[in-house]
Amino acid sequence: MGNLITNEKTGEYLQLSNAGTSVLMSVLLLAGSDVAATPWELDFVAWLADHDQNLLGLGMSGFDINDIAWTKSDFIEQKRFVLRVIHKAMKRHRWEALPYEPPFVLESLTKLRDMIDHYQVTHVGSEKPWSIEFKPEEPLKCPVHQIYEHALGCFICLDN
Ligand SMILES: [Zn+2]
Repeated sequence: MGNLITNEKTGEYLQLSNAGTSVLMSVLLLAGSDVAATPWELDFVAWLADHDQNLLGLGMSGFDINDIAWTKSDFIEQKRFVLRVIHKAMKRHRWEALPYEPPFVLESLTKLRDMIDHYQVTHVGSEKPWSIEFKPEEPLKCPVHQIYEHALGCFICLDN
């Protein structure tokens, strides 16, 4: 049991344990919440927060890179933002906010970075909305962890 992050367009995938998935999403949320500014970027962070196994069930929070609501017209800026979030996470941005030392997460971040890097504008299909089941009405940050919450609370608070 675990979760699979895939890039079906290139055949790449990242196999994660349930705990490894939570750690990966946590470090991405710590980085992404500090740099998201545009509506698309805030939606990306809300979409990350939505991948909470406390809401979806264990092993239910995998995704494909193509699930991101890329648009052809703004793809370059969108991809640059996502890579910026990953690079910030790789620099251990605010990892001290986590109640544990994240194991193996650098490997996962490196693989995810490569998968995003290999995803090209030619892979972007027709425009689609974000699929966010637990989207909050307004972007709201957890006062403890300073990450954007999903509709039922903070990913890190719920995870620990
Ligand atoms: Zn919190």
